[in-house]
Amino acid sequence: MRPNFNGNYWDQEPEGQFDQFNATMLYCTKCKEATPVRSRLLLILPDGELHEYLCQYCGSSVGTKTIKEQRNITLVV
Ligand SMILES: [Zn+2]
Repeated sequence: MRPNFNGNYWDQEPEGQFDQFNATMLYCTKCKEATPVRSRLLLILPDGELHEYLCQYCGSSVGTKTIKEQRNITLVV
């Protein structure tokens, strides 16, 4: 008799829901980890706004982002 028994089971990992990113996380070089950030309006550009992202932990700038305005302005001269 040879018991045909395999004790290996597949680990059934529950599927995590990683879609729920409410806060923006960016890598902070000072904290050396991804930290929640808050955006700050830095500049108003002719075609949008330049926002700066600040680390909520140490307050250092971790990046900028230009948000283009989708304005449909019809200039009637
Ligand atoms: Zn930081």
